[in-house]
Amino acid sequence: MAKYPKWHRVDPDNFDLSSIDTGTKLGADGKKINRNDAEAIYQKNIEAIKTLQFKMWAEKKTSLLVVFQAMDTGGKDGAIRKCFGPLNPQGVETQAFKVPTAEEASHDFLWRVQKHSPAKGMIQIFNRSHYEDVLVVRVHNYKPESVWRKNYTHINNYEELLSDSNTVILKFMLNISLDEQKERLQERLDDATRHWKFSSSDLKERKFWPQYMEAFEEALIQTSKKHAPWYVIPADRKWYRNYAITTIVRETLESIEMEWPKAEEGLADIKIDS
Ligand code: ATP
Ligand code: MG
Repeated sequence: MAKYPKWHRVDPDNFDLSSIDTGTKLGADGKKINRNDAEAIYQKNIEAIKTLQFKMWAEKKTSLLVVFQAMDTGGKDGAIRKCFGPLNPQGVETQAFKVPTAEEASHDFLWRVQKHSPAKGMIQIFNRSHYEDVLVVRVHNYKPESVWRKNYTHINNYEELLSDSNTVILKFMLNISLDEQKERLQERLDDATRHWKFSSSDLKERKFWPQYMEAFEEALIQTSKKHAPWYVIPADRKWYRNYAITTIVRETLESIEMEWPKAEEGLADIKIDS
């Protein structure tokens, strides 16, 4: 249904997360891009995505699910604001997935997620997602391996169902370096207006960086599929991140066949008199 761009896409047969440069400046054409040029393309992408979203919303045939996963401070909030904030809010929904509530934890792990599967015509954004059940759950042994390992299959089946129901799926891992996380955490400490963003649990999680990278790598390999690809976005530079995400979203939406809904017959003959 959708033709997905190759740039930054995870090839499950040949993928090594640690070899990816989180601070790259290589553009979609393989050449270095500077900030000004990337920002100009980002602006054009936003305008194009707005029009495509309008068409998708009018047609109500296809939907788009965008999944964001990242380490703390990876830029999920900023990426969502910058890449989807300018769109028609009536056509976009965002859902964040935090530590499961008691009610959520009393159901299967997909229960809380499936309630937010996108309606036709909508763009649905997941800020964290069902992938937490093969990431944080794995890293901290919240459930035994025999349980979380099966989740790859459950996730793949769920996403296949979505795809069969005309949902196009894009999954972004915002890939920052350990050093960049250190700087971002320090910035939050140094700026009183950002103290609310600082959580001492982020420091605790930081100690598990290698385990998270291992969990991410396997999750991406196990679940990057033709109809639901993962993209690893170099995210140390925010301008690069926004340029890359909007380029991929735009190209993906452009590849979907969409039609304006059929108009009433005889519109050309109608004159509005008074
Ligand atoms: P921000 O810090 O930018 O506000 P966030 O997404 O980090 O956003 P937090 O409330 O800080 O939000 O953290 C949410 C926490 O919930 C994360 O540590 C995440 O790993 C955890 N979490 C999400 N889903 C699950 C799950 N299924 N099981 C256990 N923990 C989960
Ligand atoms: Mg957090």
